[in-house]
Parts: sequence; C-alpha cells; structure tokens
Amino acid sequence: MEPLTIWFLGTGGGRFVTVTQRRRTAGLRLVWGDVHLHIDPGPGALIFSNWSGLSPQKLDAVVVTHCHPDHYCDAEVLIEGMTRVTTKRRGVLAASRSVLQGVDDIGPSISSYHQGLVERVIVLEPDVSLEVEDVGIKALRALHSDPATVGLRLDFPDVGSIGYTSDTAYFEGVGEGYRGVRLLILCTMRPRGAPLPLHLSVDDALRIMEEARPRCAVLTHFGMRMLNAGPEAEAEYLEAETGIPTVAARDGMRVTLGEVVEMRGSRKREEPRVIEA
Ligand SMILES: [Zn+2]
Ligand SMILES: [Zn+2]
Repeated sequence: MEPLTIWFLGTGGGRFVTVTQRRRTAGLRLVWGDVHLHIDPGPGALIFSNWSGLSPQKLDAVVVTHCHPDHYCDAEVLIEGMTRVTTKRRGVLAASRSVLQGVDDIGPSISSYHQGLVERVIVLEPDVSLEVEDVGIKALRALHSDPATVGLRLDFPDVGSIGYTSDTAYFEGVGEGYRGVRLLILCTMRPRGAPLPLHLSVDDALRIMEEARPRCAVLTHFGMRMLNAGPEAEAEYLEAETGIPTVAARDGMRVTLGEVVEMRGSRKREEPRVIEA
C-alpha cells in the first residue's frame, strides 16, 4: 500500500492567531506517492513548505476551501511553484466560488492571471467532485461567514477517506458527508463552553464526531481561546466522550496512514502515537 502522509504545516486559525503567528497558518500538505496536494495555504505556506523540504514545485493541486486570509493567502505563490515558476501550464486549482470569482463583497482572492497559469480550475461547491491523479476530492456543504465555504472529503485508493471540515458551524446533517472516514480533521477554533457563531467549538466537534464516527480524529485551526484552554486537554475530553482516538495537532506534526495511523510530532525524540485505525 502506498501510504498517505499529511503534514500539519500550520495549526492556527482566526484573525488573532494569524496576525500574531502564535501558531503557524500554513495549512496542510498531503503526500501520496508522487502526488502532492496543498489544502488551505494561509500566510506562511510558502515558507514552511520549503522549510519542510516540500517544494511547491512538487504540487499537483492547490485546494482552497474559502475566501479568508488564513486559508487563501499564499495560494498565488504556491500556484507559481506548481507551474514550475510559471514556465509550465500544469496542476489543478480547486477553490470555492468566493476565492475564484467573488461572492457578494467577498473575494475573489486569486487573480485571473494566476488562474490562467494552471491546467484546470475547478469551482468547489457542495457535491462537486474531481480527481487529481487517482485521488478523489469531493466538496461538502459548510456553514460559515463566507457563504461559499466548503468542507472536503478525499479518497485515496487503498488508504481510505479523509475528511476536513474547514470553518463551519454545526448544522443538522454536517456529519453525514464525513461518515465512516478513516481520519477526520476538524477546524476547531474554540474550546468547550466558548461557542463562536459560524465556527466549530469542541462542543460542536463532539456532535460531528458522534454523527460521523470517524476511525480517528485530529483537531487543528486553533484560535486564541482554544490555545489558552489547551488543545491537548480538549482532545482528551473528546476521546473520552466518543471513544474515538483524537489528537490535537501541533505545527510540524505528520500523520501517516498506512497499515496503521501514525502521528508524529516535529521533535525527533518524541514517540509517535500509533493508532490501529
Ligand atoms: Zn479559518
Ligand atoms: Zn474562515
């Protein structure tokens, strides 16, 4: 089996954490064999991709779930990398309508020049699917202050499915699209007891996890209140409540899905957590 590795290049979210960089906001790099995808390249995505040895020139797709800077900011420079520094028309840009065309007073946030550099541009709307190499990507409904926001479900042959909620409120049925995924990544801005309209708190994450019943879960995209509460304790709470192995992401964390799921911190001496999932 060709394993999938997910690099948590950034684990911060929201305006205050983004501006202060208390956590990085570089998004996720998914590597499956030769296939490289970058999801939600916020500020720092270019720097921390390169620092991790993940050249943007290796990218096959840039995916942007909505038009907020902590999700789109470095997309244009990653596209310049993906297109071999603008010398070759290649790769896929898949993004919400707000990012590509603008919706109401939001966006667009990727210039038509950059959209013209890639081989394929896909507008992500609920239930739109595409394939990048053999990877299936499906957009799912989200409910956020950018009305065009989408969540994602990605299918990797043999490895299984990954869910990514992006920023969303809890709503009836949100868990359905993520049902049974091997790994669910939840953008959990807020801790228990601190709801924020149109974003996920840990209380909302609990409801989604109970509906979706993923085989394991990672919390990421932390706001200030979440960082002050301690994401590790919040993850432990969710694991105790649901019985689903749950880990709070750290900048530089790598999750590898092979025969088992291995979560490895950025420090070499740290033992990885191995989950039979
Ligand atoms: Zn966000
Ligand atoms: Zn947002």
